[in-house]
Amino acid sequence: MRRLPLQDLAYIPYSSLSSLFWSLSTASMGVKEQVDSVVKSEEDLRQYRALVLENNLKVLLISDPKTDKSAAALDVHIGSMSDPRELPGLAHFCEHMLFMGTEKYPCENEYNKYLAEHGGSSNAYTAADHTNYYFDVAPEAFPGALDRFAQFFLTPLFTESAVDREVNAVNSEHEKNLQNDYWRLTQLEKATADPNHDFSKFNTGNKETLDAIPKEKGINVRDALLDFHKKWYSSNIMALSVLGKESLEELQAMVLELFSEVENKNVTVPEWKSHPFGPEQCRKYGQVVPVKDIRNLYITFPIPDLHPHYKTAPGHYLGHLIGHEGPGSLLSYLKGCGWVNSLVGGQKSGAKGFAFFVVNVDLTEEGIEHVQDIVTAVFQYLNLLRREGSQEWVFEECKDLSAMTFRFKDKERPQSYTCALAEQLHYYPLEEVLCGGYLLSEYQPHLIDMVLTHLLPINIRIAVVGKALAEKATDVEKWYGTQYKMDDIEPERLEEWEKAGFNELLKLPTKNEFVPTNFELFKDEKKGNTLPEMISESPLARVWFKQDDEFKLPKSVVYAELFSPLAYLDPHHTNLLHMFAQLFRDALTEYTYAAELAGLVYSLSNTKYGLTLNVKGYNDKQHVLLEKVMERMTSFTVDPKRFEILKDAYVRALRNFRADQPHQHVVFYTSLLLAEHGWTKEELLNATSELTVEALEAFIPRFLSNLHIEMLVHGNATRDSAMHMSTIIQKHLTEKAHTKPLLNSQLTRQREYQLKDGSSLVYQAENAVHRDSAIETFFQCGMQGTHQNMLLELLCQIFAEPAFDELRTKEQLGYIVWCGVRRANGTQGLRIIVQGDRHPQYLDSRIEAFLHKMGERLDSISDEEFMRHRDALASRRLERPKKLAHLTSIWWAEITSNQYNFDRDTIEVAHLKTLTKQNVVDFYKACIASFAEERKKLSVQVVSVSPGGAGDVERSGEPSTQPDDGLSQPPPLPEAEHISDISEFKQGLPLYPLMRPFTPFTKTSKSKL
Ligand SMILES: [Zn+2]
Repeated sequence: MRRLPLQDLAYIPYSSLSSLFWSLSTASMGVKEQVDSVVKSEEDLRQYRALVLENNLKVLLISDPKTDKSAAALDVHIGSMSDPRELPGLAHFCEHMLFMGTEKYPCENEYNKYLAEHGGSSNAYTAADHTNYYFDVAPEAFPGALDRFAQFFLTPLFTESAVDREVNAVNSEHEKNLQNDYWRLTQLEKATADPNHDFSKFNTGNKETLDAIPKEKGINVRDALLDFHKKWYSSNIMALSVLGKESLEELQAMVLELFSEVENKNVTVPEWKSHPFGPEQCRKYGQVVPVKDIRNLYITFPIPDLHPHYKTAPGHYLGHLIGHEGPGSLLSYLKGCGWVNSLVGGQKSGAKGFAFFVVNVDLTEEGIEHVQDIVTAVFQYLNLLRREGSQEWVFEECKDLSAMTFRFKDKERPQSYTCALAEQLHYYPLEEVLCGGYLLSEYQPHLIDMVLTHLLPINIRIAVVGKALAEKATDVEKWYGTQYKMDDIEPERLEEWEKAGFNELLKLPTKNEFVPTNFELFKDEKKGNTLPEMISESPLARVWFKQDDEFKLPKSVVYAELFSPLAYLDPHHTNLLHMFAQLFRDALTEYTYAAELAGLVYSLSNTKYGLTLNVKGYNDKQHVLLEKVMERMTSFTVDPKRFEILKDAYVRALRNFRADQPHQHVVFYTSLLLAEHGWTKEELLNATSELTVEALEAFIPRFLSNLHIEMLVHGNATRDSAMHMSTIIQKHLTEKAHTKPLLNSQLTRQREYQLKDGSSLVYQAENAVHRDSAIETFFQCGMQGTHQNMLLELLCQIFAEPAFDELRTKEQLGYIVWCGVRRANGTQGLRIIVQGDRHPQYLDSRIEAFLHKMGERLDSISDEEFMRHRDALASRRLERPKKLAHLTSIWWAEITSNQYNFDRDTIEVAHLKTLTKQNVVDFYKACIASFAEERKKLSVQVVSVSPGGAGDVERSGEPSTQPDDGLSQPPPLPEAEHISDISEFKQGLPLYPLMRPFTPFTKTSKSKL
């Protein structure tokens, strides 16, 4: 949805609200208030209870006896806007530090280690006025995890050594963001706000603000961290949500025991009554130079905080109309003019007390010359809204759709669910904490009018982003070095917008015909059938089907792959298929947007194998949408104007690859080196010179003429309805595009190159945009298979947390440290990715030293610890998908990888339980150890050659691989071989075979000639 991602809104009937009651508890010690009537969706089987403890901590308890993960989150209503002026980034730094030891659990990695050994994970974020901590874990280990978690808010240590080291992680995080346009623009918005407003601060911090400058000024950062925690980490501005399989009483007892002691310092949540964009900051026109070749226009108006009006949600109403994409919409008009391709409009949250209303568009080459006209159109649309007045039917439609969303909401993963609810506890009355963000119960036109009074030329701020502005943008933002220029908007322009009047082409949307009306669930067709089965096979198509008996919602998911050997034949064909998918989606937007609003979405994307069509959402009107999609696909004509615009966007996207993060580059090059076929961005870019309307028009019928269709239907569907969907696709293709089946021999997929035993290879590339460098060190371990998969995953389970602890926390090599499985084309291996400011050759030697150390550690690991890891992995693997569409995507991956192991988790976990510690030790010795005979190592290194980067000749001579003081030596290793020419390298290697289907199924009359 191109409304801004606000919270989904829904409605609960008045009757259920009036029946709410508060029950003030007298029974439970330590509890001030207890609410047992938290309004929930009819489909929601979990039990809820909300509490306010004696120390004013708000708590939401969620009991779900069937949950396979427990989770908790705590949100402190304080964030980076409350950083002391002299220490930008302190709230964020404090968030990092809470993970690093508490009085009760002083060990730095205790929390993460405990979670890793019990199938869990954790994270945290710092926002403008919130800091949110969350984790999940296997249900048995929940009490232990919650205890470790609670200590963050009781007695964190902030040890000096950890403070000294962790500032590097914060700095590395900033380095990662430094050349990212999103972060640069976010900070620029702050830099150009009222300088006395807290909003204007630099919010993430770096080594300069949290180490160098404080040292110069004699400020002790550790003391400041302690002060910050002492001042703001107060129970009365905290909210906690916990989800476990325990009963509400048991959860309550756990929470009371652990969190009653959190101190209540009676602080007041900061509220900003003045707006960071006061009169001085409005009527401004900014010109900004991006890192990537992007062109955007941002229009911003200051508005009041709309949270108190959640029952009317005027921002939602206005975002719905301004962000609409149907006929007569603002987007349709601007697209028709050839100025923009996409539009996002709606309210954007600020912090307590203020918010923004934004209209953001991308700009075409022509569009950047028409900024004035685009803004005029925005005001014309706003004038239309004022002239027509608030429309009750639009409000009712939004209300119905949100009510439906709330009623049939997919279950969320415990971690993200508790994380979101902890924040929502701050905003809604306890009984409305689940539905408040959905509630649209009061139609109050005056509130909509109130917001509209802020959306006037007098309040506007504009920013235009584009490479072409480099000459005019003479100022530099302090923290990110963004080149920009802010000017006053000339009075003549403002006057023109004041008199924008009306535009006949802009209209309010019509009634949404896609709103589903039938929510009936189909009767069970075949009990006991738990996996997809093939229900139809013809030379042209294979249809897999599974009726849902788990999620029980009126939704279904359809996937169809239109497989063609032309898809990735050469760079030119790859480009053609990409353009087809882009233009197709572009042409269908007006029609499909209504369906999207009504919870029915489709997507069409190009892959190495063809086109993937996906339709998901309420099943009621799915066939109508699919019919339309197929009809357009088989009668598609290319609009030459849209072609040129979207080709320009594609060419820029290919060029922008150079500005992607170094860790993204190493992942890309690894695939390029190992996959049977792969085109570089330069190859694709060079081939765009052949990309013409004529070439595309000739390509489309050729592409559609010979295909193989693989389909999966899963959800609230029957065999008949699944077959009907398949018929819609096949009928359009065979009748209109005269599609014929492919030969069996044309259905092969890509294979992977096999490295030689004992090889040690290095591939180096440069990155000139980012100051960070990155490495992916990959150990190829052969083909996938039940036994091999479990060995590798178990090894990664044991290695991942220590990798983070050693390489990030202790050695501070960079913010991004990742250790896990890499799988591609039926093969797999262990990979470790690090991004940081050191030279990749040094990073490689540290990875080797780490792996060496882990080899020794494996030998001495206790049986209990081994079993904990085995159980943790099993628990992680057996966590059921919470959403229907997630399970469908897992099964779909089994189909497109041709492995068809639909019951993989059960089968693999059963095998996992038979593995011994010795199996893992042997596997390590065979594939990973420095002396392993089958060791196949590929180290892909992206070296920064930007000023100050590890490959900057000014900065460094020969890169050293000598360990820093006090660090262990890597083992002796053979000389690595450098890959200089990728195709020559690949020509010298054999390919692995393709995977066979896990359960063979008969291919019937496929090879009819
Ligand atoms: Zn961080």
